[in-house]
Amino acid sequence: MRSRYDEGPGYRFANVPEPRRDLLKREGYITINTVQAVRGCPYKCNFCVVPVAWPGYLQRPVQEVIREIERLEGDNFLFLDLSPTENPTYIKQLYRELIPLKKRWGGLSTIRIARDREMLKLAAQSGCGGLLIGFESVSPATIKQMRKGFNKPEDYSEAVKIIHDHGIAINGCFVFGLDGDDKGIFERTVEFVNKAAIDLPRFSIATPFPGTPLYRQLQAQGRILIKDWTYYGGQKAASRSGLVLKTSLLANIGYTKYARMLPDYIPVPCEVEPWRVQLIESQ
Ligand code: SF4
Repeated sequence: MRSRYDEGPGYRFANVPEPRRDLLKREGYITINTVQAVRGCPYKCNFCVVPVAWPGYLQRPVQEVIREIERLEGDNFLFLDLSPTENPTYIKQLYRELIPLKKRWGGLSTIRIARDREMLKLAAQSGCGGLLIGFESVSPATIKQMRKGFNKPEDYSEAVKIIHDHGIAINGCFVFGLDGDDKGIFERTVEFVNKAAIDLPRFSIATPFPGTPLYRQLQAQGRILIKDWTYYGGQKAASRSGLVLKTSLLANIGYTKYARMLPDYIPVPCEVEPWRVQLIESQ
């Protein structure tokens, strides 16, 4: 074994050995049915570890993915792919081939999926019950700083509605503490989450992961507070921001309980009050 494995040039994401799921303790996981079809991301948002860890954007052969899913026990599974929908031809083909399997799945996508009705329809037909989507911020200034220009806060509400109309629940992710944020960001975010009825919101503190442009910037500005990597989980402040933040323990316990109540990503009806998070702003 080597201490580190990197995706070398010319690496093909194919002929992947099937994971030994029989070695996993089922009770320790929401599901052990996790599948990868796409690796990497074509974008380079400044806080994100994905382009750093997986520099390529690779798709596994559709038939190989389908064979693995066919062999899974039960009818539910999760796609672990972080940015799977940016090669529309590939992903639509995968969704088409999934339809006859009649499985139910959850996964991730960028918000751009709401702009491609054919893709969204195929995702729903193939059994998609929920998507994790990185909204990141309701502040255009923060989005600009992140270099995630395809996220348009002014279009978020419409996008959420379109996705919900296809019967797909949304696990919406938001980040606080970048330089574009001001003290009003919490209230504006919660207002959006409640109005849009985001089914499962998730809030984290901007974290400068090593290797990212954000890390280099904050390092150069002398704003990295600590290099104890246990601080680098998105829930503790590792760098100095315009705002100093911590998320409450109670909020995290509440989140975990709520998430476990969403079996297999079954969409939550919109009339259910979205889970509320309490963010504590400290000095
Ligand atoms: S945040 Fe999402 S879209 Fe941006 S680089 Fe990471 S995976 Fe890609």
